[in-house]
Amino acid sequence: MAGSSFVPLSTDNTIEMPYGGELMLLPDRGPVLYNIEKGRLETLYENPFEPNRPIFPVAAFNSPGYVISYISAYQENESAEYLPLFSYGAAGWHNGVFRSAAILVDSERRQDIRLMKHEDVVSGVKKMQITMPGNRLRKHLEKCALEYGCPAGKNFFLERFEAPLPVSQYCNARCLGCLSLQKNSQIPCSQNRIAFTPAPEEIAEIAITHIKRVNHSVVSFGQGCEGDPLMAADVIERAIRIIRSATSKGTINVNTNGSKPDAVKRLINAGLDSIRISINSFQKKCYTTYFRPVDYSFSDVKKSIDTALGKKKFISVNYLNCPGFTDTPEEMEALTQFMEEHPVSMIQWRNLNFDPARYWKKMCSNSRQGMPAGVERALSRIKKKFPNLKYGYFNPPKERFK
Ligand code: SF4
Repeated sequence: MAGSSFVPLSTDNTIEMPYGGELMLLPDRGPVLYNIEKGRLETLYENPFEPNRPIFPVAAFNSPGYVISYISAYQENESAEYLPLFSYGAAGWHNGVFRSAAILVDSERRQDIRLMKHEDVVSGVKKMQITMPGNRLRKHLEKCALEYGCPAGKNFFLERFEAPLPVSQYCNARCLGCLSLQKNSQIPCSQNRIAFTPAPEEIAEIAITHIKRVNHSVVSFGQGCEGDPLMAADVIERAIRIIRSATSKGTINVNTNGSKPDAVKRLINAGLDSIRISINSFQKKCYTTYFRPVDYSFSDVKKSIDTALGKKKFISVNYLNCPGFTDTPEEMEALTQFMEEHPVSMIQWRNLNFDPARYWKKMCSNSRQGMPAGVERALSRIKKKFPNLKYGYFNPPKERFK
C-alpha cells in the first residue's frame, strides 16, 4: 500500500529480497491481500488454509542502500498500538524466494554484514583498547559495535569507510520517530543517547586514527545514538581544528537537522567538508509536524543549506521516504521548488522509520495530499529535472564529490 492506494505486487515492482534484510510480522493487524482468483482485495484475520488460526501481515526491513517503494498492506485491529521504529516495506514470495518492494539507490558495500565479521570487530576493539586506553569515546563505540551491532561503529574497528563521532546529548527538535529519545510516548526508542560529552581531544584521536588507516575515509558527527551535533558546536569546532591541524586527508562530515546556520558556518570555517541535513518533507507544515522544532523553524534549515552553498560545500539531504507521502504530487512539487532555490549536491534516499499509517494520518491532517505516483516514478521524475543531482544512501568521501 501507499497512502490510501493499494497496488498488487508483481515481479515487475519487486526485487529478490536483498541479503541482510529482515522480515517482521505486524501484530494486531490483518494483511490486505489481492485474491488472484476473485480479482479483488481482501483483508484477512484468519489463515484461509488453517481456519481459526490467526494470520498477520509480513513486512520487510531491507538492508542499507535500498529504499522501499511500497508499504506492507494491512488494516489495524482496535487494539493496535504504534509500531516500533522501523520501516515496513511490502514483501512477497515467488519461485521459492522472498521478494521485496525496494529500489537500489547505493550499491556500495559500506554496511554489508557479510564483510563485517564479528571476530574481526572483536580484534579491532582489542587493538584500539591498547592504542587509546583512556578514550571514553572509544569505549562508547565499543558498546555500539558489540552490543547494538551498529554498522557504523563496527566500521571504525574494522578500518573501513566511515567512522561515527557521536558527541551531543541534546536536541532542539522532537522528531516523532527519534531513535534516541522518546519522551511521554508509547514508542520504544531503539538506542540510548550518549550520556557524556567527549572532549575535543578524544574525538580528534578517534577521527585522526581512522583517517590515517583508511583510504578515502569519512568521519561523521551526528549519529543515531545522540542528539543533534549543532547543539555541541563548541566542542565539535575545537575537535575539527585539532583534526585539521594534524591532517588535511579524510572527509569531515556532519549529519544534522540543520537548525543553526551560525553553528554550520563556524564548523565550515574550522574545516568541515560536507553536511547532511535530515528532512522528511519540503512542505513546511509537514516538516514541522514531524520534527516538532523547539527553538527554530524550517527557514533556519534553509538558511543553513544556503550558508553551506555559499561556502561551496557538499550538501546532502537525508530525505526520509515514506511511500504514499513522499511520492504525492504536493510533496514532489515542494521538492522541485526547493531544489530550484537551494541546489543541494545529493539526495540520500532513506526509509522513514515510523508507523506508516499513523504517519500518513499526521501528514494529511495538515494539508491535502493527492494520489501518490509511486516512489520509482518519483525518483526518475526528479532525476530528469535535475540531472546533476546525485542519488545515494551513504555520505561520499570528498574524492567522489565531483
Ligand atoms: S533531529 Fe535527530 S536527535 Fe533531534 S529529535 Fe530529530 S531524530 Fe532525534
